[in-house]
Amino acid sequence: MSFDTFLMVDWSGGNDRGPKPKKDAIWTCVARGGSSDEPIYHRNRQNAEAWITTLLDDELAAGRRVFAGFDFAFGYPNGFGERLIGTDEPFAIWDWFAERVEDKPTANNRFDLAGEINGLFSGVGPFWGNGLQRDIPDLPRKGRDRHGHGMNEKRAAENIAKGAFPVWQLAGAGAVGSQVIMGLPMLARLRRRFDTALRVWPFEPLDSPVAIVEVWPSLIAKAVAATMPEGRVKDAHQVALLAEVLSRLPLDTLHTLLNAPATPEGSIFGADQPDLLINAAMTGATPPPLRNDCFAMPQGAHWTPVADALDHLRRNLSAVTGMETLDLSDTAGRFLAEDVTAERSHPPAANAAVDGYGFAGPAPAGAQTMPLVQGRAAAGQPYNDMVPKGQAIRILTGASIPSGVDTVILQEDVTADDRHITFHGPLKQGANTRNAGEDMVAGQTILSSGRHLQPGDLAMLAAAGIGRIKVRKRLRVGILSTGDELIEAGKPADVSKIYDANRPMLRAVAAGWGYDVIDLGRGPDDREALRAQLDEAAQQTDVILTSGGASAGDEDHISSLLENSGSLALWRVAMKPGRPLALGIWQGVPVFGLPGNPVAAMVCSLIFARPALQVLAGGDWTEPQGFEVPAEFAKSKKEGRREYLRARIVDGRAEIFPSEGSGRVSGLSWATGLVELDDSAQKVARGDLVRYLPFSSLI
Ligand code: AMP
Ligand code: MG
Repeated sequence: MSFDTFLMVDWSGGNDRGPKPKKDAIWTCVARGGSSDEPIYHRNRQNAEAWITTLLDDELAAGRRVFAGFDFAFGYPNGFGERLIGTDEPFAIWDWFAERVEDKPTANNRFDLAGEINGLFSGVGPFWGNGLQRDIPDLPRKGRDRHGHGMNEKRAAENIAKGAFPVWQLAGAGAVGSQVIMGLPMLARLRRRFDTALRVWPFEPLDSPVAIVEVWPSLIAKAVAATMPEGRVKDAHQVALLAEVLSRLPLDTLHTLLNAPATPEGSIFGADQPDLLINAAMTGATPPPLRNDCFAMPQGAHWTPVADALDHLRRNLSAVTGMETLDLSDTAGRFLAEDVTAERSHPPAANAAVDGYGFAGPAPAGAQTMPLVQGRAAAGQPYNDMVPKGQAIRILTGASIPSGVDTVILQEDVTADDRHITFHGPLKQGANTRNAGEDMVAGQTILSSGRHLQPGDLAMLAAAGIGRIKVRKRLRVGILSTGDELIEAGKPADVSKIYDANRPMLRAVAAGWGYDVIDLGRGPDDREALRAQLDEAAQQTDVILTSGGASAGDEDHISSLLENSGSLALWRVAMKPGRPLALGIWQGVPVFGLPGNPVAAMVCSLIFARPALQVLAGGDWTEPQGFEVPAEFAKSKKEGRREYLRARIVDGRAEIFPSEGSGRVSGLSWATGLVELDDSAQKVARGDLVRYLPFSSLI
């Protein structure tokens, strides 16, 4: 059997405590085809039950099969039913509870009922835990006060599922007993209402459209923690992730997990093979870490050409960010985490491309008069009758073409009164109409994984019926400046100090790329202090950009720390500006050690870090978009290195900053982009075409 819709319910045994989402209230979430809706908070069981019932009604009406997971035990340890009602038959136990549990949003009788049940057993117990002030006869407050009740502490399922709580505990952190007592009556009512359309796992064969299954979201706790979006309640994320994971589980895996013995105790879906679920949940949750040697490049006596350095990054880096599913409107600037196919065609139905009159074409040459039918077709307001042959109908742009119509004449070409239109033919059949699916066809792949989502993409996705999409989490980029000479901008400083110019610049660059920027501050030229800073940074970032201390000198501590970690690759790239780049992995986090010089730091970040970070963030590798423009300068350069000149465009020609000195920070502000001169020897004369990379294509 297969399912279209996966509903997960995080049930609750407590009382309604207000409209604000609470950790222990009820959360539900629906997923289809690997993507989940936004989780829904229900402030009490009554609301939740009504909502679940409506959902099941709607799904059945739509002909969809539903896997409905509930996170509480469907049964009690063997022998409980025998003692209570003379049979362990699970549905008889459900009905028994349904008759006796009284449940209002702010009060219920669960503790009293548990006490009454205990009274039927010898000794003390099995239920324990009392959330009320008043004492309840036969209900001990402590588990250890129980004895001689004769029940197993756990079902077989809880013995397998490590960390699962016994059904007897009614109160206290992690207790699930109250949820069971308050949940079984609801399940009993669903069974009665949906009758043969509903089956319960593992007690019955799942040969009906609705399957009710006991689930335990903690089975995928690791994946829940790894994929938790910021600001989301844990229980909400838990149901969302479980629903999503189950909805994309391969059918044979789903069948394997559903294949459990029909013991009257019930079972926990997936508990006997948790790895199957965990692996499915972790797929994509945390990408495999980068290899420690991913930056290592064969270094000969020669300097590495820029193209080779870029090629190395392109081939050795991969995404380091997890995934999350977001509302379409929240995804601009994110990277798609999977291919997207159109949910429906666009346009969904043939429609009018202009305001005018529709009829069955073609219209022959010469003057034509047609009677008008009553009514009209407008966008969102279809005309539902047939338009007879030889007659016309008023139709507006975007209106679905009514049956009997295939051609539209522009209103400007028509003379009309209330009853007739007159115009001059000929007019081709199909004129001024748009065909269904002429833009996109349902099922067609419209965007590929790795796409950097731009506003036009969101329009296309919306038009294709897509409301939520799976994207990469935002890359967290740490920015650290190093050097004893550095001081914070705006602070008083003697002339031996210089203001930290790189940090504000690199923060702005990384923010411009659309990443989460984490300011790691400044570090001294002190190995141990820097080590501590990197250790802390690695905990909160996905990639670190440092500046300064990246060469091989005495005070170049970034390179020596990376060297000690065994991951240093000191790249000597044949380009100007730029000194060695120190690349490495610090506790799993890639580090780009940029030169200290602001001009070099800027150029190296734009040329190397930009495409590299895009790949780390889950995007495609992209080349910056440049233009050929005439030079407004003359320059000769030698062979063997690539040069980047601070440049700006004046009257369509590229000017360059008068000084190439890489300490001249003012040139960074003066420029609007870079002129890129390739590795060959060349003499650029005024008017020669040079390649200009605007900052707007680099940041
Ligand atoms: P380094 O790469 O550490 O040898 O630094 C090269 C040059 O860049 C030195 O003149 C530094 O003072 C300067 N420098 C390093 N970091 C910064 C910074 N954050 N802001 C401005 N200048 C810097
Ligand atoms: Mg330094």
